[in-house]
Amino acid sequence: MISRRHTLTQMIGLAALGGFATSSLQAQESCAVFTKESQSTTTPDAALKRLIDGNARFVAGKTINCDLMKQVKDTASQQSPIAAIVGCIDSRVPPELVFDQRIGDIFAARIAGNFVNTDILGSLEFATVAAGAKLIVVLGHTECGAIKGAVDEVKLGHLTSMLSNIRPSLSKLQYTGVASSKNKELVQKLADQNAKDAAAMIMDKSPVIADLVKAGKVKIVSAMHDIGTGKISFFASFA
Ligand SMILES: [Zn+2]
Repeated sequence: MISRRHTLTQMIGLAALGGFATSSLQAQESCAVFTKESQSTTTPDAALKRLIDGNARFVAGKTINCDLMKQVKDTASQQSPIAAIVGCIDSRVPPELVFDQRIGDIFAARIAGNFVNTDILGSLEFATVAAGAKLIVVLGHTECGAIKGAVDEVKLGHLTSMLSNIRPSLSKLQYTGVASSKNKELVQKLADQNAKDAAAMIMDKSPVIADLVKAGKVKIVSAMHDIGTGKISFFASFA
């Protein structure tokens, strides 16, 4: 059932869901692993739609139950994922689960606070330039502990330098109330800004990925996962 709270994109995703649920043949096809051929014919927009549809299934409790060991065997000699996700290490936002994807579908780079640094950029260049993925998603989430830590300027071991990657996004924000993780509005504003800034940084700091984006071969989007509902909303993209 579609509630009023669903976004238009999710309504589109739920409409597409009907086909999956009614045909075992179609379900079987959706469990087929990507090959070089099927990856090359997948557009960035089609890759994004696959993830939007997958999240709609996840939210609706209608995830597809594939034979994972068959997928292990089918990907043993090659992988051709269609997307790369930069997500937080938070236990509540595993990319494969929340997008209802499986073995061989996506690259997942996870780091607390889902920011981008040299190592993440290198991983994304491998995923896209070398391995052919068509989409990069920077996936932030609500109630993020790293975001809260950045707001509170937590000083603890290596966390101190790690959280400094998020602080520049905070300086861009206008907000009311205290600069504290108790300020829920500020925490969410920073989570949103941090995801958008990470997507922009990929374009800014990786000329090889930026070239693919300008050529229409790769799309970069930022998104926000609501840990209370499982629902993922997408921000504007670099196309
Ligand atoms: Zn987090």
